[in-house]
Amino acid sequence: MPGTIVSPVSSRRNPGSQSSLREANRARILDAITHYGALTQVELAAVTGLSPATVSNIVKEQAAAGVLTTTPTSRSGRRAVRVTLAREMGLVVGLHVSNRQLRLALADAGHQVLAERTLPLARDHRADSELDRVMLLIQDMAESVGAGLGEVLAVGVGLAAPVDPRTGIIATAGLLRGWDGVPVAEELEARLHRPVFVDNEANLGALGEYRMGAAQGIQQAAYLRVSHGVGAGLIVDGRVYRGGSGKAGEIGHLTLVEQGLVCRCGNRGCLETLVGAAALAAQFPGSHGDVKLRDIVLRADSGDARARRVIADAGRHLGIALAGLSNLIDPHRIVVGGELAEAGEMLLSPLRHALERSTLATGSGGPEVVKGALGERAEVLGAVLFAIDRAQITAGRSDNTVRTVTVGPAPDILPGIGGILPVLTPEISPERGGLAS
Ligand SMILES: [Zn+2]
Repeated sequence: MPGTIVSPVSSRRNPGSQSSLREANRARILDAITHYGALTQVELAAVTGLSPATVSNIVKEQAAAGVLTTTPTSRSGRRAVRVTLAREMGLVVGLHVSNRQLRLALADAGHQVLAERTLPLARDHRADSELDRVMLLIQDMAESVGAGLGEVLAVGVGLAAPVDPRTGIIATAGLLRGWDGVPVAEELEARLHRPVFVDNEANLGALGEYRMGAAQGIQQAAYLRVSHGVGAGLIVDGRVYRGGSGKAGEIGHLTLVEQGLVCRCGNRGCLETLVGAAALAAQFPGSHGDVKLRDIVLRADSGDARARRVIADAGRHLGIALAGLSNLIDPHRIVVGGELAEAGEMLLSPLRHALERSTLATGSGGPEVVKGALGERAEVLGAVLFAIDRAQITAGRSDNTVRTVTVGPAPDILPGIGGILPVLTPEISPERGGLAS
């Protein structure tokens, strides 16, 4: 939990201390910008519960100190001031290692992506050689924006397998074979000499969609990633829920057919044996299972009846599995991402139908199902946010500007901004520990 917030409780205990109150307000503004990226001064006042005059004064002071950058902009036709963290506050890297692709994004602490790279991965890719490649790519990306590795505050990594949060090691062997048993954070830290944090890809996709995509402001939400494999990331009470050993949300390995085909996880009849990329490709005889998900979507878009049928069937299977998930964690919204989500309503309509049939009825209806807003970047952008959250950014005494970055445990997640700004009043409950918790 960031140490930057003086909790309202302690400032009340010490009412005479104007400077500690000002310090707390400064920290509150900084934490809001760290969480949300760029905000206008009006939005900052709404999110922090501070008066517009206080916000304006602190922004002016911190801009002069080189902590914040302000740019004129307009919102709904009105002139406004957009506030972000100054680029000098540092950079973060998001890395997404999926089964067949590597995706990297370099961003500043104000959430602005400065450079991105996407590379295909060989079928039998291995951690050691890929991490060597990642190191060179990060160096190259930093150089491309005129920065050095030393400016990177933290790296967030999403892997295509459940990651045990206690060890940072893949919790279930066989899902990302060349990476099993590898302490990825340590290995990458040894190469970059920067702090590295590792999580499951669907958890980071969920974080991305929750904070800046289709699940903004939805405190109970699920993100379903339908790609080479199938996984889910769960947002429970506004936080990513990882479970005891990091396997929460492994919906792809839910048994749907008791005597079904053997899955790559070693069990039988998993959802993935019905809707994973290999299962879908096998529906195209003569292709030797080489059809890519993107090709299936393209064929379906152009009216190919087989491709449309294969996608609709996948939607039905996913809907049945999601009904089980809904009955357990009861999300208000399910966001569908991954390559197959590009099929849009061809996938979502049969999915919703199957979901409705098997979800416990409630007065308010079942969960809403929508396509992800971040597309295939959800995971890498989530990895960027994960890195920003872990690199706690502290700045700003007016007399003696302090810029420090400490690396600590993950803070909780604030709701996304969505259409309506969540107004956090000064009475933040002590157990939440302040705005950035
Ligand atoms: Zn399985």
